[in-house]
Amino acid sequence: MSELERLRTLYGQLDGKELLAAMAAEFPGSLAITSSFGAEAVVLLDLVAQVDKSLPVLFLDTNELFDETIAYRDEVIAKLGLTGVRVVRPTKEELAAAEDLWRSDPDQCCHLRKVLPLERAQAGFKALVDGRKRFHGGGREDISTIEQSVDGVIKISPLASWSQERIEAAFTERNLPRHPLVAQGYRSIGCWPCSSPTKAGDPIRAGRWAGGAKTECGIHRTSK
Ligand code: SF4
Repeated sequence: MSELERLRTLYGQLDGKELLAAMAAEFPGSLAITSSFGAEAVVLLDLVAQVDKSLPVLFLDTNELFDETIAYRDEVIAKLGLTGVRVVRPTKEELAAAEDLWRSDPDQCCHLRKVLPLERAQAGFKALVDGRKRFHGGGREDISTIEQSVDGVIKISPLASWSQERIEAAFTERNLPRHPLVAQGYRSIGCWPCSSPTKAGDPIRAGRWAGGAKTECGIHRTSK
């Protein structure tokens, strides 16, 4: 039985806080959370705070984030008492090579600003937790709560099966702060050049790389 099969057999029926707690116990010292501190990120981070406020949280600062995201990150860290947030950045060389690349080659821009820095930051971690959800669509409709990345890291998505209603309920019940750009129509928030407000009824991630075929940045490549 592979490691992925073993974990799915033991924990495949869990989600949310129960799954996160089980995985933190399964991977002591070698589990990290990745978070964009975007529109719904605080829901997962709230679960992290309930399980262990000191768990490592990897925050990718691509140098192209909204100022509002940086301010919101600090607000969320203070509100939840998170002590393990690590800011992950591209190198000077990667930033120089990625200059304005989002206009001409967004895949390479994401590779330089996100994929390579995260590869370095995740060294030593056996499991990475993320906030992906099936209802976001755009290729996420069939994600499982426990997957494996193409480089062998176990990927945990405790909110994979959560509905939009359940996410909204968590905001209300837990009195969680909203990203300031949500009020301006942004429902999925990444780098400023590649995030746009969407209309009611549009898919949630329709504002990401709007007008192009790209739907993902490349950090969630899984072998299922
Ligand atoms: S989301 Fe846009 S700006 Fe950010 S790394 Fe990807 S292509 Fe570059």
